[in-house]
Amino acid sequence: MSATLTVTDRTAMSVDEIYEELVAKLGEFTPEFELRVQAELAWEVNQLKVQRNAVILGHNYMEPALFHSVPDFVGDSLDLSRKAAATDKDVIVFCGVKFMAETAKILNPSRTVLLPSLKAGCSLAASITAADVRALKARLPGVPVVTYVNTYADVKAESDICCTSSNAAAVVESLGTDTVIFLPDEYLAKNVARDTGKHIIFPTRLAAGNIALHDTDIDYQMVGWNGRCEVHEQFTVADVAMVRAQFPDVVVLAHPECSPEVVDAADFSGSTNAMTRYVENTPASRYLLLTECAMGENIAAANPHKEMVRLCMVRCPHMNQITLEMTRDALKYMQYEIDVPVEIMDRARRAVERMIAIG
Ligand code: SF4
Repeated sequence: MSATLTVTDRTAMSVDEIYEELVAKLGEFTPEFELRVQAELAWEVNQLKVQRNAVILGHNYMEPALFHSVPDFVGDSLDLSRKAAATDKDVIVFCGVKFMAETAKILNPSRTVLLPSLKAGCSLAASITAADVRALKARLPGVPVVTYVNTYADVKAESDICCTSSNAAAVVESLGTDTVIFLPDEYLAKNVARDTGKHIIFPTRLAAGNIALHDTDIDYQMVGWNGRCEVHEQFTVADVAMVRAQFPDVVVLAHPECSPEVVDAADFSGSTNAMTRYVENTPASRYLLLTECAMGENIAAANPHKEMVRLCMVRCPHMNQITLEMTRDALKYMQYEIDVPVEIMDRARRAVERMIAIG
């Protein structure tokens, strides 16, 4: 089930109306003078959106004032890409990071896709190159390659199929092969290996672009990669224990990019959309979200009768690049356009569409 939300159309709202809505949702933890400035910017963005015939997609990790004022849809990267694929607007502004904007372009190549900041990268996507995937395939000929959607287009193009954090185990099992290459998130791979009962090994990247497996690496069914999300790798079992000691009734939710030990210590593990649904549909009154800070703020604003324990240690520095000012400038100056070479786009699309067919 998709948790992408179509949000209120705010294009006809005045600055005062946007401001009042932001105060109602975010006033508890954001100074009102700051929300006034944000409301003025949001009004400008919404006017430009109409003039450019644009759609704005807002990832769950966007900073709260942006998240609650300008997107037409909010959600996780895959669901937003589906919205991008279906839009009839001329321009898609992706308030997220570069690999997400690339996926939008791959799925709807005739539209202009804008990313408000070219600094919005991703430590996980940057952990692997297309040449790395080719080296793995040369070392393990015939073994299918599953690639997490948090990768760049040229890496997707080398893959047989993509996956998200919510369908990763289903994608691996759908292949029906003895061995699978699963890239690039180490922790997601370990969590999937455990869920599917597979033994996983991690290769070593050698000089000259070669890949080494080790003599002791016998009888494996998954080959991973040592990529990590710089946000989710920071949560520890000690963090969970500390919060449980202070709040015995807390329900702990961990993103599958957290380590297997942290996932074990949590009550629930799922994608950002799955976490959102869990909070909405579970009667508990207090939650700890082991994921990016802004998402906790955004879920708290949407569920004012529930308490989110703030363990906000890490704001994703890449998501944090995207602001209302930059979104306004993206529409004003039509920057920064994301393009992908056609040959890469066509091969990457096959891997993404194969995943979408699985669900
Ligand atoms: S939260 Fe992690 S996976 Fe997501 S963009 Fe930031 S670094 Fe990449």
